[in-house]
Amino acid sequence: MRRVVSFGLGLLMLSCSVRKKSGVENVGYEEADRYVSMISSESLKENLSVLASDEYEGRETAMPGQKKAAKYIASYFDSIGLLPGNKGSYEQSFPVVIKDPSKVKVQVGGSSIHFLEDFFYIGSFSDTNLIDIPMVYLNYGVVGEGYSDYEGFDVKGKVVVIKEGVPSGVELKGDWNNWRKKVAVAEEHGAIGLFTIKKDFKERAERIKYYVQNPRMELHNKGTQKKITSIPNFFISEEAAQGSFGIQDVNASKVLERLISLDLEINQVLSSENILGFIEGSDKKDEIVVITAHYDHLGYDAGEICNGADDDGSGTVAVLELAKAFSVAKANGHGPRRSILFMTVSGEEKGLLGSQYYTENPIYPLEKTVVDLNIDMIGRIDPNHEDNNYVYLIGSDKISSDLHAINEQVNKDRVKLNLDYTYNDESDPNRFYYRSDHYNFAKNDIPVIFYFSGTHDDYHKPTDDVDKIDFEKIEKTTKLVFYTAWEVANRKSSLNRINNK
Ligand SMILES: [Zn+2]
Repeated sequence: MRRVVSFGLGLLMLSCSVRKKSGVENVGYEEADRYVSMISSESLKENLSVLASDEYEGRETAMPGQKKAAKYIASYFDSIGLLPGNKGSYEQSFPVVIKDPSKVKVQVGGSSIHFLEDFFYIGSFSDTNLIDIPMVYLNYGVVGEGYSDYEGFDVKGKVVVIKEGVPSGVELKGDWNNWRKKVAVAEEHGAIGLFTIKKDFKERAERIKYYVQNPRMELHNKGTQKKITSIPNFFISEEAAQGSFGIQDVNASKVLERLISLDLEINQVLSSENILGFIEGSDKKDEIVVITAHYDHLGYDAGEICNGADDDGSGTVAVLELAKAFSVAKANGHGPRRSILFMTVSGEEKGLLGSQYYTENPIYPLEKTVVDLNIDMIGRIDPNHEDNNYVYLIGSDKISSDLHAINEQVNKDRVKLNLDYTYNDESDPNRFYYRSDHYNFAKNDIPVIFYFSGTHDDYHKPTDDVDKIDFEKIEKTTKLVFYTAWEVANRKSSLNRINNK
């Protein structure tokens, strides 16, 4: 009995020491300590005070403020001796499509009617310009058993106007209260557009206003763009139906006198940029450690600049500090064995577009990309914590247990932050794991860690400013990222994958 116990204990101790060895290797931590001291609150503040100033206009994707920030970051990389990360250039440019719903123009009988005042639309359509199209008013626009509002009217190549609801006493199949059904039937009859008179127009337009304030964006990928599945589908107010369309009696179908013109060119193709700085590794230079943060933000909110000091100015300046520390290490003969790509991405706030573009068009093969350490919002203390000595870690244990162990151990040995895994829980309703750029790497089975401090009252507001930033907090978190990157870039063994253990 005793022997067994002591034997068991011996095994346990043995397995501990083995595990410790496979967590962090001895990869020159005395040097690491020297270079980590280059990461300082002062220079973090210096860079953030520039990037999150009003001059950068909230760094909205594809807008002048973002371009300006791109230039700043690229020239910073250049000044500290980083190589251009994209075949001689610091930029990786990608096309984005901006959909500005307010660009739609409608004219009836030669006079304009106005977006959100007189009409709005649901669904998407191809860019077209329809001029002087005849219109037909068709009551409810339904087709049922022995009943059709289309009977006796030719709507081919015309715009159909209808009202909401269904006629009483008619047997109908399917859900005719759903606008999709009415759009499909109009299209079947050859109509090229549909307008529906809406009773609660004002109320609905008010709600829609909220969603259309900021233009939507997506990556411009020829061929993979969402297919347009239906004809343009508009809603108009009762006043517009009466005044502009000339429909006095909504119970009487008829060919309308006025012609309609629709200018539906709402898609504009612009470009945005990821900024890439590179440090070449020594003997494992084909393997790439990636460190990311997004430098784009929201631009303006109702005329006020959203400076995005925390989101994600804090992560961006952290990447600049990390680049500097590794660059000096390399200049002093302590460069990493693996290569390191420092990449600040754009388009994050529009749907992780820059990191999506990079992972779909990687400059360095994804199979050789060993990790993505992503930093997004590390400059504030959230309401769940009293002091600044913490960081949320998300995703660290999902793909590689080695990565998780490394981050834990360098923190325990050196940085000593409280590591908070609250948001790493799959069942957490915030789903932060899916909400920043590391996710595009994780999708490709690349181990990731997302470093994060949580949200706060100024999140996505014009009040996310530099004067509220806790620079000591950014410094500590950046140091943790530094040690983790140092280990991953220098260790002998590769990071394991949980799936193919
Ligand atoms: Zn954000």
